[in-house]
Amino acid sequence: MAHRIGIVGLGKITEDQHVPVLKKNPAFELIAVASQRGLTVDGVKHAYRDWRDLLAKTPGLEAVAVCTPPQVRYSVARVALEAGKHVLMEKPPTNTVSELIDLRDFAAHKKLVLFQTWHSQFNAAVDEARRRLTGQSIKSLVVTWKEDVRHWHPGQQWIWQPGGYGVLDPGINALSIVTKIMPEPVSVKSAELFFPATRPSPIADNPDLTSSTPRSWRAEFDWRQTGEQTWDIDIETSGGTRLKLSKGGTILTVDGKTVLQNKSEEYERIYERFDQLLTSGKSDVDEAPMRLVADAFLAGSRSIVEAFVD
Ligand code: NAP
Repeated sequence: MAHRIGIVGLGKITEDQHVPVLKKNPAFELIAVASQRGLTVDGVKHAYRDWRDLLAKTPGLEAVAVCTPPQVRYSVARVALEAGKHVLMEKPPTNTVSELIDLRDFAAHKKLVLFQTWHSQFNAAVDEARRRLTGQSIKSLVVTWKEDVRHWHPGQQWIWQPGGYGVLDPGINALSIVTKIMPEPVSVKSAELFFPATRPSPIADNPDLTSSTPRSWRAEFDWRQTGEQTWDIDIETSGGTRLKLSKGGTILTVDGKTVLQNKSEEYERIYERFDQLLTSGKSDVDEAPMRLVADAFLAGSRSIVEAFVD
């Protein structure tokens, strides 16, 4: 029988991905939505304005996908777990690392499934990069994640508020790939955070990454890029092999030759994974990308740059 699921938050990613992907996956039945604006989805039986009603009143609800901004994700997920529902969370997870750890532990205590998704990890090119880097020693790692905030986040005010992550909202996607493919644990050595005057979240960040062996690597996140957008990760192994993941982890090039280019089906694969987790009763919570972001905020120097006007 299909898993009966609800969605909290009918914003951009819900409309672009969660709803169409759930509708074509027979393992799920989308039975409820909660939208503060009173939006609904064709064919969905139960629609609420308040997500608490979705959790308390939907008959037969088993699981919920939390697609709100990260600032409210903890509250929704905590109440959902308290109500005995399995939970899938959009990225980035929560306001703080402690909240994510609490949810992980609480889900285990309640014997419920918690799936913290990192959509960029769900690419075959990323899996192949990980396979090729297993057991390798890394000489250099350069992450270049530069996009136009006006194009990708028009009018989204939450992204600039505390807990909205600023440029680390897309940046954490790159870091989720890095933590998946690197053959050794990565941490933040230092960072430079650039805040537009009057905005509490950064528009750019340049962290230096390191590992237990004394090696230093670099990332550049910037929201001020117009024209061509860049979502690249370049790695050179100590043996001289050069791997490049480009277009957000969908294309893998090795020594200049494309070895794998996958269609972007991140959310199809996310819901396949959620189905497996629900069937096996196991959770999947990987806090490594979030720890790097938290460390960049802790260790980063801060500079004020030109004000950003929408
Ligand atoms: P969005 O368009 O602003 O949508 C978020 C929705 O959450 C809002 O439209 C609102 O929907 C609901 N919401 C807002 N504040 C709320 C609150 N206080 N309580 C309950 N619900 C609230 O944002 P988005 O782009 O969909 O992003 C949502 C999350 O997905 C973010 O964490 C983002 O990083 C992640 N994500 C986005 C994309 C993308 O391409 N946009 C890609 C991957 C991941 P209602 O009015 O319907 O309640």
